[in-house]
Amino acid sequence: MVLKNARAKVEHYWTNTKKTLAAMSVWGLIFSVVTITRLGVAFDYDDTLVNSQPAYSKAFANSQEPYSEGFWSVVNQSYDLEKPKIIPYSLAWLFRVFGFRIAIMTARPAINAEPLKKEWRHLVSRGYFIFNSDKTAKSGFLSDGNYVLFFGDSDSDISEARKAHVFPIRVRRSKKSVYKEDYNPGSMGELVIPLSEY
Ligand SMILES: [Mg+2]
Repeated sequence: MVLKNARAKVEHYWTNTKKTLAAMSVWGLIFSVVTITRLGVAFDYDDTLVNSQPAYSKAFANSQEPYSEGFWSVVNQSYDLEKPKIIPYSLAWLFRVFGFRIAIMTARPAINAEPLKKEWRHLVSRGYFIFNSDKTAKSGFLSDGNYVLFFGDSDSDISEARKAHVFPIRVRRSKKSVYKEDYNPGSMGELVIPLSEY
């Protein structure tokens, strides 16, 4: 009886060990293929990866002139007020774990942005937090770098990805986001992630 129990226990652990080893080798295989082929996945920042409305509200309240240097300095340094969006943020980490290079492309100017880049250093590869105030510059960055997916909330994000022949995925904006332009999710026949507004 005791022996039987012990055998059942050993068998149980052995089955679990085999399952774990199988899962690890699948992960290892995907990780090596992705790393060797240097595949990347890119994300827009505002309203895609984070809900940054509080940072913008603070900047509007604290700077003389909207979209001035001082304004962007406040926005870029108020990342403690920003909240990662659950689904896009989790997906980014999932891709990271499977070996994809993660890039962030934002239309913010890079004013006092070093601490913000540093804040994201664990997720985003070195040198791949890209600031460019020209919205239409994203396709340029996307077309050289082996990107397979681009996540964005704006219509222009979707069209930029298509211009660069990168598969676009739409993230929904939070209802609290004040920025309402350039936003017609699903209107371009693109894939929209459900519940991605949170
Ligand atoms: Mg955006």
